[in-house]
Amino acid sequence: MTRTIIQTENMGFIYPDGTSALHNINIEIKEGERVAIIGSNGAGKSTLFAHFNGINKPTSGIVKIDGKPAGYEKKELLEIRQKVGIVFQNPDDQLFAPTVIEDVAFGPMNLGLSDEEVDKRVEEALTLVGMNGLEKRAPHHLSGGQKKRVAIAGILAMRPEIMVLDEPTTGLDPKGAEQIMKILYKLNQEDMSIIIASHDVEIVTQFADKIFVLHDGNIIGQGTPEEIFNDYETLKMAHLRPPKSAELLHLLRDNGMSINIRLTVEEASHEILHVLGVDAYHNLLHLVKSDLHHELLHELGEEGYHKLLHVLKKNEKNI
Ligand code: ADP
Repeated sequence: MTRTIIQTENMGFIYPDGTSALHNINIEIKEGERVAIIGSNGAGKSTLFAHFNGINKPTSGIVKIDGKPAGYEKKELLEIRQKVGIVFQNPDDQLFAPTVIEDVAFGPMNLGLSDEEVDKRVEEALTLVGMNGLEKRAPHHLSGGQKKRVAIAGILAMRPEIMVLDEPTTGLDPKGAEQIMKILYKLNQEDMSIIIASHDVEIVTQFADKIFVLHDGNIIGQGTPEEIFNDYETLKMAHLRPPKSAELLHLLRDNGMSINIRLTVEEASHEILHVLGVDAYHNLLHLVKSDLHHELLHELGEEGYHKLLHVLKKNEKNI
């Protein structure tokens, strides 16, 4: 059976100033999953993530990492942080060393590893994110996408089992965003569990196999992308919208087209082509079988008319 790696039980969190940010959170994340937590600004996504590596301690309930209730002593926190790596939304909050290489080496050095092992891990992490060759650069002189990749490398060098990323594509251009998502997908293929927070439904649809909807500190929905983005009530409550392609298909369906809702642009275009093709074919068949064959004969000419009949007959089984 697949291992549960993060689990919360009736977890709640109140900030010291009295802000009640999370209420009765019950979620389960399994090994190897690609999970997205979606919700509008202020929903509680960052607050929730900070529980996954012990930065926040629940005010009520518990969080279990790899089946064990999280402990908050120094040694226990170190153990959690080796398992769970968090990449923050703004890489400037994470990158502080004068060079890329020093930044990425910081985590593994703190684990007390040998210089040789640290070098090996740094090189491996920079290669994974496609940033080798830029080791001596100053992080604050890099582009947004490059900073993000260095921040990811810094966490990868710790070799966590679970990677948690808060809004991984915010502030990036489409190409930079695509590169980051490809890296995450590749890491997941190599068995790393990935959890992202995002309000970009397009990114989430392409990436996640499980989604939690967070609103006002409550989990108000969970399921596959198909389940979540067909649940308009929940999306509305969370101030979220479905992906554009799903919205388009819903509009077509509302206008009488018999069409299935698809979430990505590629799937949606296939669906539209399929429906248009089959409908047109049925319409033709209907015309030919009705009294309108005289009209068709007139329109197509005798040869065209017979060709059409021939094609329809040949493909009858495929209708
Ligand atoms: P999200 O990441 O979904 O935008 P956050 O987790 O940042 O949401 O915020 C959840 C709630 O907690 C918001 O009401 C926010 O104002 C509040 N909050 C966040 N950080 C703090 C803090 N350090 N002190 C008090 N309230 C906070």
